[in-house]
Amino acid sequence: MRTPVFAANWKMNKTAHEAREFLSKFKTGLSGNSEVVVCPPFTALGVVLDECQSTPIAIGAQNGFHEASGAFTGEVSMAMLHKEGVTHVIVGHSERRDIFGETDGLIQLKISAALQLGLTVIFCVGEHLDVRESGGAMALVESQVRAGLNEIVAAEFGHGASLILAFEPVWAIGTGKVATPEQAQDVHAGIRDVLSALYGADVAERIRILYGGSVKPDNVAGLMEKPDIDGALVGGASLKVEDFLAICQPVY
Ligand code: PEP
Repeated sequence: MRTPVFAANWKMNKTAHEAREFLSKFKTGLSGNSEVVVCPPFTALGVVLDECQSTPIAIGAQNGFHEASGAFTGEVSMAMLHKEGVTHVIVGHSERRDIFGETDGLIQLKISAALQLGLTVIFCVGEHLDVRESGGAMALVESQVRAGLNEIVAAEFGHGASLILAFEPVWAIGTGKVATPEQAQDVHAGIRDVLSALYGADVAERIRILYGGSVKPDNVAGLMEKPDIDGALVGGASLKVEDFLAICQPVY
């Protein structure tokens, strides 16, 4: 039995002040059986870590660099995040791939560095619309999964504990066009097969696979009914306290 995970990806939204306001309301409303992760922008991490002390809310970063320190202007390292108390990090988000040119190779380096430090990685994969329309979605997702996890052994992610996959079809991110539960389930089951081929069925059964792409309070339940959907990575709807509570606090 996999514990559901709901992760808020705030992207480039919310000042430190706005983050504190959100969390003071959110943490008092939170209940349910799921794990909850909040990923604010770097500038709000300190406030969010402070506000979530002694709560079950875990804190994640939206990105991190694999080198520990040095001449990398504008970057924040996985090691620095870990030292501040961050426990999760999103790697391979399509906005990082498409806007900032992150390659599968760089994503592998980031995943490896984060896991070495004991961070839990939320590793995003997903296809663009043209790939889906040409029937190539699963092949593309498989290649992203294999490349990102290249040379990474199961012991590095606690045999499932500290690796979370997120299937995020790019055509569904921020568009209001959610994948149907059946479309998502097909790819999630395919990802679990790839994980099983790489690490064996036991490990694959333990890895949580989240769906991301226009998840809202009114479509999350249908997705959560599917056997291989273990939670959600939520962008837009995680910015409103009521919406994110409605998504993550029912007992799934
Ligand atoms: C995301 O960016 O990870 C995401 C899923 O965004 P949205 O929920 O807004 O589609």
